[in-house]
Amino acid sequence: MYASKLYSQPIKDLQIEAEKYLNEGFKMFKMRFGWGPKDGAEGIKKNVELVNAVREVVGYETDLMLEAYMGWDLEYSKKIIPELIKFKPKWLEEPVIPDDIPGYAELNAMGDVPIAGGEHEFSYLGFKHLLELKAVSFIQYDANRVGGITPGHKINTLAEKYGVPVIPHAGQMHNYHLTMAHNNCPFSEFFPVHQVEIGNELFYYLFKGEPEPKNGFINLDDNTPEDWEHPNTGEKIKVYKRTRKGQSGLKTQLFTITNDGQCIGRVWDSRRGGRVIKNGCKFPLGVWKEGETRTFIGSSGGKSRKIELKILKLGKKQKDSVKFNWKLYDGSGKLMDNNDYTFSPGKAMSGLKDH
Ligand SMILES: [Mg+2]
Repeated sequence: MYASKLYSQPIKDLQIEAEKYLNEGFKMFKMRFGWGPKDGAEGIKKNVELVNAVREVVGYETDLMLEAYMGWDLEYSKKIIPELIKFKPKWLEEPVIPDDIPGYAELNAMGDVPIAGGEHEFSYLGFKHLLELKAVSFIQYDANRVGGITPGHKINTLAEKYGVPVIPHAGQMHNYHLTMAHNNCPFSEFFPVHQVEIGNELFYYLFKGEPEPKNGFINLDDNTPEDWEHPNTGEKIKVYKRTRKGQSGLKTQLFTITNDGQCIGRVWDSRRGGRVIKNGCKFPLGVWKEGETRTFIGSSGGKSRKIELKILKLGKKQKDSVKFNWKLYDGSGKLMDNNDYTFSPGKAMSGLKDH
């Protein structure tokens, strides 16, 4: 994944932001320019200072991509590109307007800095045109704009014929899966989530539960929420599956329970040879608050028992762990178990402290 933000801002702040991504483990970055043709020679100098500032932080063992977002014209691009060569950018993105395909082709043919584009191209034929003219060295379609998964696959295959890699525009699960499904897509773009302006939420808030990069990589699994009905109460919730294979062929599925984004527990479903051996629910469902205690009747050893459950620390995301205190009483009201536990989705529960 590459971290894609680093908008034009005071140099010190830009360097702090770049350092943050570097410390998070990213090895690829994309930054934006702040000035264009109307800003003349002074603007070129300021643009170059931005690139220099980021390179100072991320060094030259990393990939740095430069984004002009259609803000320049051909003449300006030809002027500034020689100033950018020394920073060894992996690409220069959308230097001119998307319809200036001969302009793209001319800049790409210069060979000094590879040209990238395609997020404002909308059809298979448009990409064919770009590829035939060798107008870009990297294709960046956006699955939202080209018509979805099927056109995405077609463009991936077409670009491969021309030896041009595809790195789809923006993150999002459908782009990630298109990337994972195709040899011609070496990596993905990642937009670090931030408070975005109204009207531009699509790339940040469209899906809940998107994977978060760790050390510059994401893990794509089958972690798609499914509708699930609580066996006792009939309450309908979204669950995230975690399959585990137990001993002697016992296959246990652990589900992370989320409710309004809260991670509060697990249910399980153990099968052998397709036959359900046991299933159940560890926590009563519903929206919980941190510090809240609830009493309910659960079953233990085949008997009904009173249980007091207090949430000590609540997970905010589906993969967060939850800390809780668990008090179990026997039939006569005697306290049998009083423990703090940590529950991490997909893992066995671990005891913390015996009271
Ligand atoms: Mg772009």
